[in-house]
Amino acid sequence: MRKPIIAGNWKMYKTSGEALELVNGLKSELKGESAVDIVVCPPFTAIAKVADALKGSNIGYGAQDMYWEEEGAFTGEVAPKMITDLGCGYCIIGHSERRTYFHETNDTVNKKVKAALKHGLTPIVCVGERLEERDSGKTFDVVKDHVEGGLSGLTKEDALKVVIAYEPVWAIGTGRTATPEQAQEVHKYIRSLLGKMFGEEVSSKVRIQYGGSVKPDNVKAIMAGPDIDGALVGGASLNVKDFAEIVRQSKR
Ligand code: PEP
Repeated sequence: MRKPIIAGNWKMYKTSGEALELVNGLKSELKGESAVDIVVCPPFTAIAKVADALKGSNIGYGAQDMYWEEEGAFTGEVAPKMITDLGCGYCIIGHSERRTYFHETNDTVNKKVKAALKHGLTPIVCVGERLEERDSGKTFDVVKDHVEGGLSGLTKEDALKVVIAYEPVWAIGTGRTATPEQAQEVHKYIRSLLGKMFGEEVSSKVRIQYGGSVKPDNVKAIMAGPDIDGALVGGASLNVKDFAEIVRQSKR
């Protein structure tokens, strides 16, 4: 039985003071909640404060991106050990906003996934099609390309540590969610791809989140899909009550 995992992607929102307020609210709302893995991914500048606030709590935390090199002359980048040093357990990798605005490719995603695993981080690897790709019947091709490219060269052992987030780009921040059937169809496909790449035993254990305008009032229906193991939440993760309710509604 896969334990649900709900992760909040705070994107480029929240100064460290605002982040502290948000995380303190989540801590008290979600105290003792153990049926779901809960993760927040603040901007880099707020991670240290959030980490302090979360000491000893049931809420994990991570970064929204990182570079793959150990260190060096890479102005503006953040190395894996810089985020593990802050106690991060997770890192979102290959979010569609990174692919769109910062030219991330399957190759850079793959390098980051490998670096994350090397440093003991759980990569949350984002995959998903754009609207024009869905409309032209290319959803499965795009998802296959993202999954195979992003996870290329991983061992079975590595693959077990990965979380995949299926995020149809047309549903991110638009208020337009995939129907539970559309989401389940792609999740099932991703699980079958993982089966071909790493074997059935591994694929049955990998957690696959759905992301795209997840809210308290639609998460239960989405989570009903047998291959849906949680959510990557953007907008609604910035609100204490909404995020806490999404977590509660995601219990199996
Ligand atoms: C996201 O940023 O990964 C996301 C799914 O955003 P939203 O929930 O706002 O659509």
